Amino acid sequence: QDVVNRMAAGEVLARPCNAIKELVENSLDAGATEIMVNMQNGGLKLLQVSDNGKGIERDDFDLVCERFATSKLQKFEDLMHMKTYGFRGEALASLSHVSKVNIVSKREDGKCAYQANYLGEKQRKSAQDGKMLAPTKPAAGKNGTCITATDLFYNLPTRRNKMTTHGEESKMVHDTILRFAIHRPDVSFALHQNQSSDFRTKGDGNFRNVVCTLLGRDLADTVLPLSLESTRLKFKFTGNVSKPITSATSKNSQNRKTSRSFFSVFINGRSVRCDILKHPIDEVLQNRSLFCQFVALHLEIDETRIDVNVHPTKSSVIFLEKEEIIEEIREYFEKFVSDIFG
Ligand code: ADP
Ligand code: MG
Repeated sequence: QDVVNRMAAGEVLARPCNAIKELVENSLDAGATEIMVNMQNGGLKLLQVSDNGKGIERDDFDLVCERFATSKLQKFEDLMHMKTYGFRGEALASLSHVSKVNIVSKREDGKCAYQANYLGEKQRKSAQDGKMLAPTKPAAGKNGTCITATDLFYNLPTRRNKMTTHGEESKMVHDTILRFAIHRPDVSFALHQNQSSDFRTKGDGNFRNVVCTLLGRDLADTVLPLSLESTRLKFKFTGNVSKPITSATSKNSQNRKTSRSFFSVFINGRSVRCDILKHPIDEVLQNRSLFCQFVALHLEIDETRIDVNVHPTKSSVIFLEKEEIIEEIREYFEKFVSDIFG
């Protein structure tokens, strides 16, 4: 049973950046407007997310790291209309199987903060999901939640050994937070690595300022908004792209690939790896030998027309009317580009 749990956990949380995504999504679900991420050694030594969200109730501390424990799903039909990121109750359970988890949390209406430590198997005698090691204790802490995972993959040595280049892991965590920060200018994101600050956004809702802070003014000055609504296919496509440049200006094709500095797709608020939206954009650009350094896309679509439950990490999506959606976006973007270049 434990081996199964550990393997399942290793699949959901293959790398530090997967864990960070889950923790940040939990913070956003909790209504946080300030999210601070801390990491050491690419997240393998320490991964920490603290937020000013609604907090965890004392009684819920017993449950949060158990599999399928979620406070977000009341009945099966809710699955069809998910407005929050989480709903499977798998992230914290998985995390506690592959790291040592500490949670400190205070509700606004709570007398004080509480804290607990969790661990999956190995150091416990009985094989159960991430159980608390000791009863929940009162603790010092401000409103919100701080979740700390130390020694990620300590019980999966081969996995851990593969990630010897901490730089690569920390870059992926950095990119993950960057995506959230750009997608949510209304939330303040801060990233600290090995005690030094990587970046911090204000959270005042100003998109241009966020891009300016994170990717520089030169890029921020060229960013243009996209917006397309389809009543027939029930979707709203928005986003921002930097003004396309001719790819001849970047010297060779290899250079062209690496100079795309930012690309992200969110679907109904979730960060996803989704080539379906990337293809029509790339096609239009390639046909004109153009290139965009910055592409941030967001698709809001009727929840009955997609299936995001394909994979536990919710990073892939199946569309009901894939071809039609692609075609509408391609047409729109073609016109968008020809309005700029004629
Ligand atoms: P899910 O997000 O799918 O519900 P998780 O394993 O990610 O499952 O989280 C389990 C539960 O722990 C959540 O349903 C929520 O009640 C609680 N929780 C986790 N992180 C936070 C947080 N940052 N603030 C408040 N509650 C949280
Ligand atoms: Mg979650």
